[in-house]
Amino acid sequence: MNSKVENLPPHVLLFPFPAHSHVHSLLKLAELLCHRGLRVTFLVADQTHSRLVNDTAVRSHFDRYSGRFRFQNLHDGLLPKDRTVPEFPSSFLEAAKPRFEDVLVAGKSSITCIIVDVMMLSFAVDVAGQVGVPIMCHPNSCPSDLWAVRCVPKLIEAGEIPFQGGDLDVLVENIPGFEGLIRRRDLSSFLRAGDLSDKNFQYIANGACQAHRVRMILNTFEELEGPALAQIRSRCPGIYAVGPFHEHLKTKLAPTIPSNNLKKEDMSCIAWLDEQPLRSVIYVSFGSIAVMSNDQLLELWHGLKNSGKSFLWVLPNVADKEWKNQLPPEFLIEDASGKGNIVAWAPQEEVLAHKAVGGFLTHSGWNSTLESMVAGVPMICWPFFGDQLFISRLVAEVWKLGLDMKDTCDRVVIENVVKEVMETRREEFMQAVDQMAQLAKNAVCKGGSSYSNLDRLIEDIRSLDNDSKE
Ligand code: UDP
Repeated sequence: MNSKVENLPPHVLLFPFPAHSHVHSLLKLAELLCHRGLRVTFLVADQTHSRLVNDTAVRSHFDRYSGRFRFQNLHDGLLPKDRTVPEFPSSFLEAAKPRFEDVLVAGKSSITCIIVDVMMLSFAVDVAGQVGVPIMCHPNSCPSDLWAVRCVPKLIEAGEIPFQGGDLDVLVENIPGFEGLIRRRDLSSFLRAGDLSDKNFQYIANGACQAHRVRMILNTFEELEGPALAQIRSRCPGIYAVGPFHEHLKTKLAPTIPSNNLKKEDMSCIAWLDEQPLRSVIYVSFGSIAVMSNDQLLELWHGLKNSGKSFLWVLPNVADKEWKNQLPPEFLIEDASGKGNIVAWAPQEEVLAHKAVGGFLTHSGWNSTLESMVAGVPMICWPFFGDQLFISRLVAEVWKLGLDMKDTCDRVVIENVVKEVMETRREEFMQAVDQMAQLAKNAVCKGGSSYSNLDRLIEDIRSLDNDSKE
């Protein structure tokens, strides 16, 4: 059916990169659009498609939108060997390009615009241009870091990267808006490694440059990232800061908030939290991608134990598949006081909102950071790679919502920072994070910046639809 001829609502095709948090975040945006009356096709690659459709309640949740939401499968044709890290991003992107083109050519007459993950921009801008469909993008990352990566050519030109010498505390001067704040150690891990020809880094750097050529829908709010948004705005055809997505959605859907989780959540930890005193538990999670070594795992475990605090710990991915046999037998065994609770996957938003949680030891993934802010939970940052290194710096030094322990994560440091956030500086961090939570909540309420930006986005999509009908 041709929406440009029939009198149907505008139709947006969303295309996430097939990794957990990318899908999770774009699904939230999809729902914000559906809620405002648009039609959405959510295009996802094979494995993610089958998980979403068969193993989650997402499809039935979207039934409420009377047929305005549908999933479409993009067959990527990848072999199991192509699905392993670090090959996966580049093999997926290479496989996806021709198939994405086929989808656009076939759907062209009914699609008002497409919204793709920044990771796809290396090919999607050209394909959309050739087919003649308007394109916008969504970076599933912190906009301030996106801006920093956009500055890479300038940093190279200024001789700031590759780094000269091994001092990682040297300040980086050529990221406008962040002068005097960002050290070499806070930049993307690819830059630290000095390998600018790394294929995955090329996709990220190219994506950041391409993103500034199209309109961007950002999971942030004006009051949080003003300096970066001002820089991006001055170079980009248009930006819509409509986040935090999850809180924005909550204001529209409460009390029936869906869990779009692609993994099965262990709900028993909520009952365990119910038994714990107010603000006594530190929640520990490293998201869906970060991988730990046996040594890191042990240091973390000792640090948590030695802090004397109760902890709820989502087991991370561990590089050594035999790790359970390599560590001392007492590891993972709950101690007599029952202070530790270890789960495979938690209902994170619910955990962070629980009154027993007083701190979050996080890898500083962007979604986790926003979720912690909104829930008013101070953070201890142990970043692993990518934008996490930049975000942790902002959390500690700009927003002052916690501590950044990057590059120093041994058991003594962990014990000390847990005590600092949960005890000695608790009031200071609680006050700062409560204020930020309030700003985030105001942003998504009627009259707030993200609320108004979403209105503007919907109007702009509607006018694209009208233009195409003329
Ligand atoms: N998450 C979850 N349960 C867990 C751990 C993580 O639901 O046990 C969710 C979390 O709420 C967040 C996402 O997974 O929305 C992780 O995204 P983030 O950007 O923080 O990190 P990434 O996985 O991309 O490294």
